[in-house]
Amino acid sequence: MDLLNVISVEAAENLLIKNFSDYRLNTESVIISEAAGRFLASDQVSAVTVPSFRRSTKDGYAVRSVDVSGASETLPAFLMLAGEVNMGTVADYKLKPGEAAYVPTGGMVPDGADSVVMIEYSEKLTDDEVSIYRPTAVNENIINIGDDIEEGCTVMEQGRKLKPADLGVLTSIGLTEVEVFVKPAVSVISTGDEIAGPDEDIKPGQIRDINTYTIAAAAEALGCRIIERVVVKDDQQLLTEVLRECYAKSDIVLLSGGSSVGVKDYSLQVIDSLGAPGVLCHGIAFKPGKPTIIANAGGKPVIGLPGHPVSALVVFGILGRTLVHLMYRTVPPVESWVEAVLSENVNGAAGREAWQMVRLAKSSTGYEAVPVHGESGLITMLASSFGTVRIPLNKEGLSKGSSVRVYPL
Ligand code: AMP
Ligand code: MG
Repeated sequence: MDLLNVISVEAAENLLIKNFSDYRLNTESVIISEAAGRFLASDQVSAVTVPSFRRSTKDGYAVRSVDVSGASETLPAFLMLAGEVNMGTVADYKLKPGEAAYVPTGGMVPDGADSVVMIEYSEKLTDDEVSIYRPTAVNENIINIGDDIEEGCTVMEQGRKLKPADLGVLTSIGLTEVEVFVKPAVSVISTGDEIAGPDEDIKPGQIRDINTYTIAAAAEALGCRIIERVVVKDDQQLLTEVLRECYAKSDIVLLSGGSSVGVKDYSLQVIDSLGAPGVLCHGIAFKPGKPTIIANAGGKPVIGLPGHPVSALVVFGILGRTLVHLMYRTVPPVESWVEAVLSENVNGAAGREAWQMVRLAKSSTGYEAVPVHGESGLITMLASSFGTVRIPLNKEGLSKGSSVRVYPL
């Protein structure tokens, strides 16, 4: 396979960074209840202090610690009951020496009190009197004003992907809406004379389209919205028309198939014709997925993915992740992995970084990484794999019994 300009995976990612770091997505305002999973378009600064009053973390009695100093089961402190704080209301009295007030969890600690003793360590003797069996330290069982959020502080930064707890922070500072980036519009195109769409009759020699579905789902999982899904024949004219149309309305164009150097492989020429500077690389030193094209067409990314379903999805997993996070102005989340022991020798790929699909098997000491073998085009291979073991480009392979990291797919 004689590709034009083969570069390492790292160099490919650097190309994306160099070319698309300044890409500007539009922003939109969404209500907090619909903001989960969206990416913040600006830093969020709190206009308020949370909590704005001292809150008890326990059901118990608000006291002055000096009044219960040395209190014990045998020698309790006897305090006068000044009142009972109701949830959601102001404790409108000040605790005087020798007094206690009942406070529920989350209730306001009255002025004058400096701590809360848990109800378990007390006994209400009469309507007016309570005995306390434990001493308290100052601030014990109290959340102080601003312990959660200080007024004027940045609670979250631009580019953050909002998770459930983040929505809690945003509502706690009184926001009802938040400005997020509009999801990148993505067109997913598959090319191949042999590819039949889901509602087409399949003729002998044809296969069902896989990539349009897998790539679109992967892009959606990264936070994109799919605006076009198209299957095109290996026809340069037709492919050019479809690509131009998709390019005009997309932030990212993904084309799978025809990315190599076969007679009917038109992806390279067609992608290059979309706009300057055009194709940046043709070929990644990676297995599975060498015939990959990265282009910058007038500032927009156009990626030509290999046709093999496994390659297409794995390559998109790497490049798509980098690209989408660049657009969202955030760093991709730290990758997690599972430590495992390799069950057999695996070969690297000369001069290429290789990702070996593995499944995990429980062993007496932890997990075993069991290579999943098959031809590179078999999608069930990918579906039945838990993750990948990565073999660097300068390494010949990994031996049975070695400790490896398995990165979930
Ligand atoms: P290509 O990159 O066009 O040479 O395709 C490589 C292999 O992937 C061929 O066996 C194609 O039939 C297959 N292929 C290409 N596109 C798809 C697709 N959308 N769905 C399933 N298989 C595909
Ligand atoms: Mg083809």
